[in-house]
Amino acid sequence: MQFIDLKAQQKKIRADVEKRIQDVLDHGRYVMGPEIVELEKKLAEFSGAAHAIGCASGTDALLLALLAKGVGPGQAILTTPFTFIATAEVISLIGAIPVFVDIDPKTFNMDPKALEKTIQAIKAGGPDIALPRSKKISTPKGIVAVDIFGQTADYDKINAIAKNHGMFVIEDAAQSFGAASNGKKACSLTQIGCTSFFPAKPLGCYGDGGMCLTSDEELAQLMRSMRVHGQGKDKYENVRIGINGRLDSIQAAVLLSKFSIFPKELELRQQAADCYENLLSQSDKIVTPYVAPGNKSAWALYTLMAKKPESRGPMLEHLKKNSIPTAVYYPKPLHLQTAFAGLGYKQGDFPIAEDCAARVFSLPMYPYISSEDQETIAEAILEF
Ligand SMILES: *Cc1c(COP(=O)(O)O)cnc(C)c1O
Repeated sequence: MQFIDLKAQQKKIRADVEKRIQDVLDHGRYVMGPEIVELEKKLAEFSGAAHAIGCASGTDALLLALLAKGVGPGQAILTTPFTFIATAEVISLIGAIPVFVDIDPKTFNMDPKALEKTIQAIKAGGPDIALPRSKKISTPKGIVAVDIFGQTADYDKINAIAKNHGMFVIEDAAQSFGAASNGKKACSLTQIGCTSFFPAKPLGCYGDGGMCLTSDEELAQLMRSMRVHGQGKDKYENVRIGINGRLDSIQAAVLLSKFSIFPKELELRQQAADCYENLLSQSDKIVTPYVAPGNKSAWALYTLMAKKPESRGPMLEHLKKNSIPTAVYYPKPLHLQTAFAGLGYKQGDFPIAEDCAARVFSLPMYPYISSEDQETIAEAILEF
């Protein structure tokens, strides 16, 4: 049994992938080839955003989005502590200050109520809610919300709060491409949506890749320029500071192939999630994932919670003995990571994120997981 079986998918598309890679070898435009344009057009259409900008990774997508919004040294960007390091890393990388906001205990996404309180606390200059203790924070500039495990954050509320305070919102949709909220797709829910094509994500390539999606023409142009060293009219005119953040033609070729079966795969992921829910919802040892009304998850991960933190370790041991692979995303919230020690946060600042980090674990999830495997997994959990 595997945690994510990419081979099962490859079997279905291998001939098509090989043909598309061969096309790249034939035309020789390894960088910014025609596959990029085709992929950008298709994914923009799929997500409902007007423009798509392919780039080198999900991390670069977030970086490009922040650069395009003019984020720079000293500015406060509010985000969640319960995410992959990249979300907050890019904020620090450009000298801005990540300000963490606690999460909702059911969806694991940024809690809009905590968001409002944090903004108020910054504006009042008073610490009635945890703020970076080692940094002086002035006006909050923007928000990077994350669609953790495949479910979109509560953008109706987050966007409204942002608007009220004159802030922008970026959607970290690295885990949620293909998800939807009230019929609107991930990557079209805020001003800029950023996704990742890392192999283990719902739509993954065979290496690194990412994309920014937006319906704002000006931001799209900025991000297009910044992904190629701030290019102006041509290659040797540079009008702003940017990065080398392009997506490779071969990765775009792989993605075009995978995208042809992606809608079907989203359905299969939903079926696998439904199957787990049926098998596991009766257990008194765990809590199965909560999907908010109106939301459709992309099920990047199927993440449960042990009812008690002390039972997670023994539960995972028991599953391991039964040859069932599991993973913990994320065992240490970002405010407690050494990399962010300079912000001056401490244990207890974000009790919900800390509690979830101590209790979550993920089960094997991919479109082609068999119901037999799911039954085996559920039996092992129920007998624990
Ligand atoms: C994977 C991931 C990223 C980074 O994407 P890469 O393509 O690996 O750079 C950013 N944010 C979240 C939430 C992720 O899961």
